[in-house]
Amino acid sequence: MSSHTDYPLSVRNLSYRYSKSQPEVLSNISIDFPLHKITAIVGPNGSGKTTLLKHFNGLFLAQYGEVFVNGQVLTKKTRKTIQKQIGIVFQNPDEQIFYPKVVDDVAFGPRNMNLSRAEIQKRVAQAGKLAQISHLMDRITFNLSFGEKKKVALAGILAMQPEILVLDEPTIGIDPWSKGHFISLINSFSPEKTVIVITHDFEIMKSVDNIILLKDGEVKGEYSDFNSFYQEEFAS
Ligand code: ADP
Repeated sequence: MSSHTDYPLSVRNLSYRYSKSQPEVLSNISIDFPLHKITAIVGPNGSGKTTLLKHFNGLFLAQYGEVFVNGQVLTKKTRKTIQKQIGIVFQNPDEQIFYPKVVDDVAFGPRNMNLSRAEIQKRVAQAGKLAQISHLMDRITFNLSFGEKKKVALAGILAMQPEILVLDEPTIGIDPWSKGHFISLINSFSPEKTVIVITHDFEIMKSVDNIILLKDGEVKGEYSDFNSFYQEEFAS
């Protein structure tokens, strides 16, 4: 088996069905996500991407197979420790924004990490700057636009400084002015973080290190560059 120092997140023979009467939506999935690289998970609607993502931090526990985070198998028991190592930014920011004020929402994660006040403030400011929401810190979260909320949700995860960062459709709902910034931001993480991005966005796919193609709950291809992926899927 591959070393967890090379692959901080690994999925082994993972299968999942939502109920006994329904077919598998993930079938025997095995993927190693390489250290400090950006891996995109792509595939048509309904191919199982979101179901897979929910296994990464124990929101779903494996029915068959295993998920390893930094070499530790993800179970009910290890889930709490593992959740500190892996940050997920969901597609819909309303699922992870809880506080009325932006600054409090971004600070929520670090406040639960036994950090000093000064460290929390520093992290919130840094994350706010990276996600380009410094000017929104005193605003009411519920009044923000969808794209602004997405940036707040991202800042909240960045402020926890997870080693592994998972982004579900980060550019959906993001305006074209901010999108370029978002893509370069994602790329700027990779020297220090292992990044996994679920996306339909060709611009993101062009900038990542690996592309994993999921279809009908199975891994149907792995590509190290966008062109070979595109040729195989769309040009023939
Ligand atoms: P993707 O993220 O690639 O669009 P999903 O993981 O959301 O795919 O869905 C994979 C399959 O699982 C789809 O057929 C979807 O209808 C089904 N599915 C998703 N959520 C549920 C659920 N809560 N109950 C039953 N089936 C579900």
